[in-house]
Amino acid sequence: MTAKLEVRGVSYSYHSLEGETLALSDISFSVESGQFLAIVGPSGCGKSTLLSLLCGLLCPDQGKILLDGAPLSRDMSSVGYMLQKDHLFEWRTILSNVSLGLEIRKRMDSDSLKTLQEMLSAYGLKGFENSRPSELSGGMRQRAALIRTLALKPDLLLLDEPFSALDYQTRLSVCDDISAILRKERKTAVLVTHDLSEAISVADRILILTPRPGRVKAVLPIEFPDSSSRPLDRRNCPEFSSYFNQVWKELKTDE
Ligand code: ADP
Repeated sequence: MTAKLEVRGVSYSYHSLEGETLALSDISFSVESGQFLAIVGPSGCGKSTLLSLLCGLLCPDQGKILLDGAPLSRDMSSVGYMLQKDHLFEWRTILSNVSLGLEIRKRMDSDSLKTLQEMLSAYGLKGFENSRPSELSGGMRQRAALIRTLALKPDLLLLDEPFSALDYQTRLSVCDDISAILRKERKTAVLVTHDLSEAISVADRILILTPRPGRVKAVLPIEFPDSSSRPLDRRNCPEFSSYFNQVWKELKTDE
């Protein structure tokens, strides 16, 4: 079976007047359809560079990135993003914020409007269609940002520290909500985070990178007895601390 995402022998260097900086070296991994991969590693190891390569903003110097077996195309509509900031526009209502991507792509019609309204309702934003972003909590705003992304039906979702701007308590519950939504929608997702607990609580596998130049240090499968358990449940399982220690040990051996 072809993997949804396959990264084969990818290397990337930055070039400046001071010289060349090798950021990533010989990175290979794959993500099956519907899987959740988390990428962790020390600061500066190339996590953001890797996401920029996965979304086609940068091109690898060596190696290949395949989506459904084909090289990443210039039309990146099959890849969606969720970033640290929700980037909702205050001058638009919540409904017109979540429809923005569809409007830009000229795909807004009565069917997609109905789908958006159903999603707003399913994800706890019913009654807020005509509100402005500032009237919503941080968690509600992140859910709106996710609906805006999912409305475009991306094949692959890239999440770049999407919860780090939230306070700790909100962060736990938003992470729980969003991970449940992604599982329900059976989305293939790649999450970059510096929070090991977050990675263990959401991922099916964790890719651990070495310090710069980032190389694959280990790929750790994450399995909990109840495969449908949500992040908050996972945090209470005995396996959680054992995974935490394993990832911590892998990261510490580089210091
Ligand atoms: P991370 O997201 O893991 O913190 P980055 O992908 O941002 O790491 O950066 C990887 C390495 O590449 C860093 O060590 C950084 O110094 C270097 N780097 C990032 N951007 C540039 C750039 N524009 N020019 C030169 N070097 C860069």
